[in-house]
Amino acid sequence: MLLPAIVLAVTTQGAQATSPTIPLLAEIPVILKKAEDALARGAQKEALTQLDSLGPEATYRVAFAPGSQSGGLAWARKIAVRSFLTWQTRLGQELRFEWVEKGPAEITLQFIGRTGILRSDQVGLTRWNRKPNETNPLPYRAEVLVAIVPKDAARVEHTILHEIGHALGLDHVEQPGMLMSSFNPTIPITEPTLAEVQAVREWREKARALRAKAIL
Ligand SMILES: [Zn+2]
Repeated sequence: MLLPAIVLAVTTQGAQATSPTIPLLAEIPVILKKAEDALARGAQKEALTQLDSLGPEATYRVAFAPGSQSGGLAWARKIAVRSFLTWQTRLGQELRFEWVEKGPAEITLQFIGRTGILRSDQVGLTRWNRKPNETNPLPYRAEVLVAIVPKDAARVEHTILHEIGHALGLDHVEQPGMLMSSFNPTIPITEPTLAEVQAVREWREKARALRAKAIL
């Protein structure tokens, strides 16, 4: 009876020692493939439209939603600014987050209370729009909602970093202790893991290479 338990323990350790696979949002590889196929047909413009829907190549404009600018939320805004800077630094400056007061922004951050928008077990949510329309001329726009009830700095920081991960194309991870796994108050997360940073870098590198071909 002992043997299977030992084998299981070793397997688990082995899995943690190797770099875990970080899943991307399902649409990221699909869009990259569409761009690649368009390029193969010589449809450069179509390829660029697909790539634009993945997000900006270099600079993401970020704004707080109007309702999130009250004085009482200054502490949460401070955490948000730090969280975007953390991702930017970890990505090695390959992209920039530029805070804007008004005007179009690729990422809008909104602090909300416990409303009907979030499920009872949710602390954050990111919604995307990858097609320009009349009200939204941007080819890519992410709306990040973060619950600030209860007022809990560690939870807010994890949530914002996690939602930025989604805005940068990452899906959820099963392993605990990672940014893209669910919030665990006993394991405070203050930055993405190397594997998560690498996953973002890799798909963006592919997108950059395709864009370079499309504008030749
Ligand atoms: Zn999530």
